[in-house]
Amino acid sequence: MTELRITSLRCPSCGAPLDGLRRDTVFTCAPCRLAAHISNGEVSTFALRFAPVVTGTDLAIVRLPLWRLDVEVSATGREDGLTPVVWVSAFHQSRVLFFGDPGMDLTEQAIDLLDVEDLPEGTRLVGVTSGPSEASEYARLMVTHILDRRADVTGMEISVAVREAQLWGVPFAHEESARTLTELNTGRSYSTLLVEDFLEIVSG
Ligand SMILES: [Zn+2]
Repeated sequence: MTELRITSLRCPSCGAPLDGLRRDTVFTCAPCRLAAHISNGEVSTFALRFAPVVTGTDLAIVRLPLWRLDVEVSATGREDGLTPVVWVSAFHQSRVLFFGDPGMDLTEQAIDLLDVEDLPEGTRLVGVTSGPSEASEYARLMVTHILDRRADVTGMEISVAVREAQLWGVPFAHEESARTLTELNTGRSYSTLLVEDFLEIVSG
């Protein structure tokens, strides 16, 4: 007989129900700044951070989830150890090669974000479909790709160790008529079609 295992989706800190959508694997409690990854009935928790809206905009703000990974990179033939911050989209991305990748753009521009102290009432973060291990795998690919653009990495042995993972709510300005989302730090715009669960994320 198969045992049905039900995980109670409650914040381990305050006990309130955790926030998430149907397909999510990571659930959040915005007031506690906590993200809980549930895998095989095991819960692991991560810090949840919210980046501020850096420029004045009249457009509606949509917060999308991205992992922020502190990584340590060592490559043969390089004396200097690199310790970049790597951003990996945590939402379900559609056709990255076509629509672009906000995580890659933030990482390439070496952008680090500040945490906001006071969140607007009702701020939530949902649509987190990739967990920290998927993000770490993707970070390894991304770092290799970025190094490859700067120098030929053929034959180089590159190791990427993830030191810490945090989940961030990164604000994008949503222009409804143009169906675009603009990340205000890089200034890059993306089609809303990039975000698979966009309507669910916006409407909650
Ligand atoms: Zn809580």
